[in-house]
Amino acid sequence: MPKLSSQRRNGREADETRNARELLVLPSAQLKPRSNNHKATARRAQPEQRKNAGAALENVARKLLVEIGEDPTREGLVRTPKRMANAWEFLTSGYRADVLEILNGALFNEKYNEMVIVKDIDFYSLCEHHLLPFYGKCHVAYVPDGRVVGLSKIPRIVDVFARRLQVQERMTNEIANTLMEVLQPAGVAVVTEARHLCMLMRGVQKQNTVVTNSAVLGLFHEDRACREEFMQLISHRQMG
Ligand code: ZN
Repeated sequence: MPKLSSQRRNGREADETRNARELLVLPSAQLKPRSNNHKATARRAQPEQRKNAGAALENVARKLLVEIGEDPTREGLVRTPKRMANAWEFLTSGYRADVLEILNGALFNEKYNEMVIVKDIDFYSLCEHHLLPFYGKCHVAYVPDGRVVGLSKIPRIVDVFARRLQVQERMTNEIANTLMEVLQPAGVAVVTEARHLCMLMRGVQKQNTVVTNSAVLGLFHEDRACREEFMQLISHRQMG
């Protein structure tokens, strides 16, 4: 049973302590997820395909402008399809990122078994129902069981799943499941809080609605005190 006093550490501290740890480099075959549900391993597109995708996205953007009644040849819009294609490449880059590649080389054998929390991770995602942004904060905690990860990697994992078309619930689960699979910790907890532009700009137009989701696995699921400690530690900084 791990001791549950918690510690907040940042990326810099993690890097400073890196040398003191035994670096754990796993061949990626060993890190393959058991299931493919959360798509930790991305479908990697070839450069030529990506170039075509860029041109195809520009065509879609031009068509969109025409369909909404705009003139894509007017001065302000001439370069918009190109800009939009570039923006969409970035906003969906999570499909082409590889979680296992990001984490490999940042995993360490460590007899540390207290709760590790990284909170207030900003994320920006796109809802798959309206292709409009939802954005907010993600809080991640885990209780290691012999293996820790460089803390700067956790926000990068959040980005991998945020930069796709998402529903908030699935994104929250994917982040938690990935950490559970790769770190094999005693437990993982992820809480996301977000504002959805599809709610704010259209539809119900509820300006202050913050949607909160959580995924609790292992110890955080089984041990109420552990879960409550995490919830309490993130409670004072929730999205206003
Ligand atoms: Zn939506």
